[in-house]
Amino acid sequence: PVNRTPEMQEERLKLPILSEEQTIMEAVAEHPVVIVCGETGSGKTTQVPQFLYEAGYSSDQSIIGVTEPRRVAAMAMSQRVAKEMNLSQRVVSYQIRYEGNVTEDTRVKFMTDGVLLKEIQKDFLLKQYRVLIVDEAHERSVYTDILIGLLSRIVTLRAKRRLPLKLLIMSATLRVEDFTQNSRLFSQPPPVIKVEARQFPVTVHFNKRTPLEDYAGECFRKTCKIHRMLPAGGILVFLTGQAEVHALCRRLRKAFPARRCRPQEEEKDSAEEVRRFKKSRARAKKAQAAALPQISLDSYSVLPAGEGDEDREAEMDDEEAALGSDLDLDLGDEDGAEGGEQPDASLPLHVLPLYSLLAPEKQAQVFRPPPEGARLCVVATNVAETSLTIPGIKYVVDCGKVKKRYYDRVTGVSSFRVTWVSQASADQRAGRAGRTEPGHCYRLYSSAVFADFEQFPPPEITRRPVEDLILQMKALNIEKVINFPFPTPPSVEALIAAEELLIALGALQAPPKGARMKQLQSSRLSCPITALGRTMAAFPVAPRYAKMLALSRQYGCLPYAIALVSAMTVRELFEELDRPAASDDELVALKSRRARVAQIKRAWAGQGASLKLGDLMVLLGAVGACEYAGCSPEFCQANGLRYKAMLETRRLRGQLTTVVNAVCPEVGLFVDPKMEPPTESQVTYLRQILAAGLGDHLARRVQSEELLDEKWRNAYKTPLLDDPVFIHPSSVLFRELPEFVVYQEIVETTKMYMKGVSTVEIQ
Ligand code: ADP
Ligand code: MG
Repeated sequence: PVNRTPEMQEERLKLPILSEEQTIMEAVAEHPVVIVCGETGSGKTTQVPQFLYEAGYSSDQSIIGVTEPRRVAAMAMSQRVAKEMNLSQRVVSYQIRYEGNVTEDTRVKFMTDGVLLKEIQKDFLLKQYRVLIVDEAHERSVYTDILIGLLSRIVTLRAKRRLPLKLLIMSATLRVEDFTQNSRLFSQPPPVIKVEARQFPVTVHFNKRTPLEDYAGECFRKTCKIHRMLPAGGILVFLTGQAEVHALCRRLRKAFPARRCRPQEEEKDSAEEVRRFKKSRARAKKAQAAALPQISLDSYSVLPAGEGDEDREAEMDDEEAALGSDLDLDLGDEDGAEGGEQPDASLPLHVLPLYSLLAPEKQAQVFRPPPEGARLCVVATNVAETSLTIPGIKYVVDCGKVKKRYYDRVTGVSSFRVTWVSQASADQRAGRAGRTEPGHCYRLYSSAVFADFEQFPPPEITRRPVEDLILQMKALNIEKVINFPFPTPPSVEALIAAEELLIALGALQAPPKGARMKQLQSSRLSCPITALGRTMAAFPVAPRYAKMLALSRQYGCLPYAIALVSAMTVRELFEELDRPAASDDELVALKSRRARVAQIKRAWAGQGASLKLGDLMVLLGAVGACEYAGCSPEFCQANGLRYKAMLETRRLRGQLTTVVNAVCPEVGLFVDPKMEPPTESQVTYLRQILAAGLGDHLARRVQSEELLDEKWRNAYKTPLLDDPVFIHPSSVLFRELPEFVVYQEIVETTKMYMKGVSTVEIQ
């Protein structure tokens, strides 16, 4: 008995999925697994949980679970569904990594896919759920893929126990063959229900020529033209990253000032940010004591820090920020030069940014109608492609690009690259223009270029290292990973690389010596987990870092290793100062800040023995000093640290401390808010521990007699790469140039840079 308001009921009835309610519910009644496909905005996420609730698929024993790849979506959707059903958030709730509002009255639970994976490790049968909905399956995030593989087995097991579990997989595209045509995954192909979207026709306009470099400038020009010449209707612009989005917003606001004082928006933003930080700090403090989970080793093993796409995306935004100028396209304020555009206040444009790291309340702005007489213009990254539906969009401007992180399979070097999207993505983007009336999509590339696009984006699992997943799967006693029903399996190469790394770290048993190559390969892919591996799997960090923790019991090093691993996992603790400045004043401010932060880093790195620990000593200093100061936003601001990252580090430090205590209760560890710097011998030991975890990340300075080519000046040589690598300028060892170093990662921008560098001694 749901008591919706008449207005809400009327709004729901407009959604195309409402006419499919009966079909969907019949399919769910008859089949254990059902796939629902429907255009973004057709009502899948908000309506299907309501159908199930009304059909009685939840009780106080077993509830309806919905997984989302993004934290934002889990939160926002639980609120929206509660509102539509006129129920409290005690009943329709959410759970994300560190927070949630689930109660004993919860009947519908939205969560990130990472949260559900952890629950599987506690109770493989997931008995508390009667139905599970895996949402946004078309995104093919690693965690969604693994979940679907695991759930296919859990559904079978639950049927055997006569405790049937229903599984719904929801996708915004019709590309579901990886789920339906994969007999290893589902021996009976699940029925696919297509929701006819009420989509209005969208006219696609290709550019005659494709701009080679300046697609952001082309976006600006096209948006201006649309705004000047075409009838009312919102504009949605697709760009690739946060920096680009902000730069274009700035230019558009300048060109078409809205009546309200838009130009101050940016300043207002930072004031708001600080307020938000303060509020969330108060909340975090309150939540902290309660939030630390009770963990016992056999029932709890955790996933590596990245919890869902949201995290990875956030990480990407952060990193992009950290890599700064290398990735920023030149979007400087050259509006004047550009076709002599004069600010035109007679044509107000309500310009809003949208990207995943944007604060939720700001993201919510795009759902509100623009001020009277102004046209809405949303400048977005990929997030607007499928997961959010913005009302009133009539024009889409698509740059045709997307920014992705790429890994080299052999060397592990990562880089962010801006590449063409797939045809499927471009069509999704175009579709955003036809939600409320017929629309137009302007593609800033030619139809010939489009014809060359890949048809679909490749699933994430095929594009990144998988050692973290493999360790988690082995800990779930999935020995022959190669037989796991992946919707799309990672390459054998990637699986072998992962197992080799895990064997080197001691997490898996090495195959017997003397095995033949072919045997070796197949036995490699079924190496059983070791006791050390199980311990490592309990730490919610990458296997390398887990190994460091497992080694740190001696010499009282554990508290330092925990602090270090937390900081290395969160990454990019320091705010980004390499970005291009928008004005001369900003440039001066940036420069002085850079100098100040460099000074702070040097102070934290210290001299002599401690400096040998390099950037990792800086991290220890940052974590120790920040905690000493109560992890306040003011302290972070003063020392160039990112408050959000420091809070995350603090939470992880608490969580790791709890896990370590569970693994070896006799150490009786606690988070010391006044941790003393490590002693000289502890520093030496920490460097050895680092070398054990990062042993394959070793680099040697090129000697002067080897210097054949100028490009090798100050360069390092690594075992796997032919090309020179360099210490990143933000490193405290940038000028020290020690002979041997280990690094946390190599990121390729203008050069290949090692980040997180420490010296090691080679005997
Ligand atoms: P799908 O999951 O198929 O993409 P949704 O269920 O998310 O579709 O959305 C259905 C409709 O509900 C859309 O028209 C969307 O605009 C609207 N909607 C979703 N969330 C909100 C919200 N927070 N406020 C107002 N409308 C919303
Ligand atoms: Mg949805």
